[in-house]
Amino acid sequence: MEKIDEWHKERGFSEVGYHYVIQAGGLVRLGRKVAQIGAHCKGHNSDSIGVCVVGSFEDGTPVPGSQWVALVSVVSDLMRQYGLSVRDVYGHKELGNTLCPGFDPVVLREALADECEV
Ligand SMILES: [Zn+2]
Repeated sequence: MEKIDEWHKERGFSEVGYHYVIQAGGLVRLGRKVAQIGAHCKGHNSDSIGVCVVGSFEDGTPVPGSQWVALVSVVSDLMRQYGLSVRDVYGHKELGNTLCPGFDPVVLREALADECEV
């Protein structure tokens, strides 16, 4: 988290650009406040919440168990809190020219649909 904050400050951001950072092992760290505009997805920063999953999944490797559980938990809580549906959840690569997050966002939406039934 401290490293990301450092990187993002080097890029000229005021602080870490994500609203949530899910560390390997599943520890959830809070980034900038949701009320503040993120710096996580060009063109969509002002109307989205940025959740970063630490690690490299760009070869399509799945997110490890406890980190995945934390991701589903954080996003489903946000969906409830902000009245969002699974159709409001995107992977970075669906909105920008990037491989991020590597894993297929459809898999996340399916897990959220099971979790939330929104
Ligand atoms: Zn990304």
